[in-house]
Amino acid sequence: MTTIEAPARTGTAEPVPAALAELAAGRPVVVLDDREAHLVFAAAHATARLVAFAVRHTSGLLRAAISAERADELRLPPMTSADDRRGGAVHAVAVDAVAGVTTGISAADRARTITALAEPRTAPDDLARPGHVVPLRVGSHGVLAHRGPAEAAADLAALAGLSRAGAFDQLIGLDDPTLLAPAAEARAFAREHGLAVLSIDDVVAHRMRRDGVVRRCAEARLPLAAGTFRAVGYRSLLDEHEHLALVQGWPEGSSPVHVHRECALSAVPGAAHCGCRRRLDIALEDCARRGEGIVVLVRGDMTSGTCPATDPRGQHLADLLAEAITTDLRSSDRPTSAGRTGVYARGHA
Ligand SMILES: [Zn+2]
Repeated sequence: MTTIEAPARTGTAEPVPAALAELAAGRPVVVLDDREAHLVFAAAHATARLVAFAVRHTSGLLRAAISAERADELRLPPMTSADDRRGGAVHAVAVDAVAGVTTGISAADRARTITALAEPRTAPDDLARPGHVVPLRVGSHGVLAHRGPAEAAADLAALAGLSRAGAFDQLIGLDDPTLLAPAAEARAFAREHGLAVLSIDDVVAHRMRRDGVVRRCAEARLPLAAGTFRAVGYRSLLDEHEHLALVQGWPEGSSPVHVHRECALSAVPGAAHCGCRRRLDIALEDCARRGEGIVVLVRGDMTSGTCPATDPRGQHLADLLAEAITTDLRSSDRPTSAGRTGVYARGHA
């Protein structure tokens, strides 16, 4: 079996910069998620040895995450119209590179195809359909819009200064290769091979710090039944909406935070399937009584006609926006405020 050499690790304690240095140097990293672990490498740096290493230790179904825009340019439509990934990456038509490839399935052939997907000069006719590498179409906001391995792979490749194309596959178990590797085994695998380890949450946090996701745009006093609140408006860089924070006092790390996702049903008196309106009223009353606290009103798509309290779609984005807004309120309203670990209650909790 071909293995890759031990890495020259950067030695930094920050998981994302360390991983980016590895990816830029053409080495794979291990990305942990809640239930599984993925081996990820930059598609631009795919080699036969690297793909062989990946195939040896993963499920073998190597995928290449690229932007949906690039997939359109390459004429790689979704594999099926019924690919419901709840807003996540969509499987596209599988491909092989045309040039330099024989059957398409060998590690050398797949490496050629993966690099072709990362190469900006690749044209639609440079790819044969169907093939042995499955491209995944990821959204332009990556992990900030959807917290998944495909988004993490594409974002990491771009953050490493390479083409926004990342190859990834689930690691299989060390003890039982018929199953996927749990986190502890994935960490052991990374130690054995000297690979950097990070989580998708690390990528999300890194991008939030680096890119920022909200801009404060307006502020006013707002009299409500519960009391008069300071209303602070935010423009989101991740969607088309403006979101609102209703604030009592000067937010500290210990101030309570309530997140309310906009709900079409909440405006309907007595709507039986709305679980969020009553909680919103209680949160506002609680903040007014304490004289401190934040209620974040996250606007969203209300066309589904369901209460967000019963619909997890959009929760990741709502949590990100709420975190960015509360961070801004805590850091900019009173610069001397300390702490970042307030009570964090979701509207549907
Ligand atoms: Zn509701």
